[in-house]
Amino acid sequence: MTNRLRIGIAGAGLLGRLLALQLGRAGHEVHVHDPAAGPDARGAAGWTAAGMLSPVAELETADEHVFRWGLRSLDLWPEIVRALPRPVELRREGSLLLAHREDAGAARRVVDLLAAKAPADHQAQRIDGDALAALEPSVRRGPQAWLLPGEGQIHTVQAMQALVAGAPNTTWHWNSTVERADPQRLQVASGTLAFDWVFDVRGVGARPQLPVRGVRGEIFWLHAPGVELRRPLRLLHVRHRVYVVPRAPDLVVVGASEIESEDRSPVSLRTTVELLAAAHSILPALAEARIVHSETNLRPALPDNLPLLETSPGLTRINGLFRHGWLIAPALVETAMEPLA
Ligand SMILES: Cc1cc2nc3c(=O)[nH]c(=O)nc-3n(C[C@H](O)[C@H](O)[C@H](O)COP(=O)(O)OP(=O)(O)OC[C@H]3O[C@@H](n4cnc5c(N)ncnc54)[C@H](O)[C@@H]3O)c2cc1C
Repeated sequence: MTNRLRIGIAGAGLLGRLLALQLGRAGHEVHVHDPAAGPDARGAAGWTAAGMLSPVAELETADEHVFRWGLRSLDLWPEIVRALPRPVELRREGSLLLAHREDAGAARRVVDLLAAKAPADHQAQRIDGDALAALEPSVRRGPQAWLLPGEGQIHTVQAMQALVAGAPNTTWHWNSTVERADPQRLQVASGTLAFDWVFDVRGVGARPQLPVRGVRGEIFWLHAPGVELRRPLRLLHVRHRVYVVPRAPDLVVVGASEIESEDRSPVSLRTTVELLAAAHSILPALAEARIVHSETNLRPALPDNLPLLETSPGLTRINGLFRHGWLIAPALVETAMEPLA
């Protein structure tokens, strides 16, 4: 490359790590600042995410841009993961929407909405009980089912670790809070740092420069060696959107609540009862699973719940990835790097 830039990144969450990887690989000198105590401190929402890569299913709440960025990212993830120095579980065997018969009304609404919003070549496919049993033998017989071919999942914890390990030309500044991010400037406790270009990817920490808020999400990890699951399941329910995602080794992740609150306190009893009962209702073998971990975090969301990618000379802000960060981050990073080329 001809033009080696000095880049400052505010935030070492999902976006900050992915930007560091790609900018470092492009030969730039990268500095990442984050208040976390180190690379494994679990403040960023990226750690907590289930890692579903679901452009079609997310159309229930997202728009055309999220869908397109999602499709592009599904194509980018394999190459990103291949270049990392540690293995990261990445699967693309589709996902399943399930609904108990008594929730058929709620399911019809969602399926009709997806049918209206998704292009013809990305429609949910209704499958019968035999086809469901062939795809996922552990799922209880009886629910209505739709297959979303091409959707996928990524092991977010492995990916967060591998992204740091794999980013070349990058200096990680832990315990370093960015108070302001401005064109070519990051303001930290020791003063103002100068760069050729700055990326502000502080998630919920970008306030007051962006009107971002945190949306509480709670998840569980279950150790379930007897449960054979190949792909993410989403249960369409009158009150909840519950998903169950297989994760190596022998884990399933059950999530997630979506609560308008910035409370980071531990998982509530109500969420525990409701999510785990719903998950058990589709996977009876979960009865003997062990709850090995639960976690709460905040999804960074803007007032319209849509992502923001805003570029001005010397500064790019990306935020509001909300429920879709893992789904769309590679495409956003690709677009964000275009002005530097
Ligand atoms: C329960 C849950 C489940 C989810 N499931 C999925 C899913 O299945 N699929 C999917 O695509 N997405 C999912 N998400 C969403 C996804 O995790 C987020 O969209 C994504 O992590 C946002 O990335 P980010 O880099 O913008 O923010 P984050 O990952 O939150 O990173 C922000 C970083 O900025 C740092 N920071 C904060 N303040 C400052 C400051 N002042 N100075 C410097 N740094 C600062 C933080 O320490 C953090 O490291 C889920 C989220 C949650 C909470």
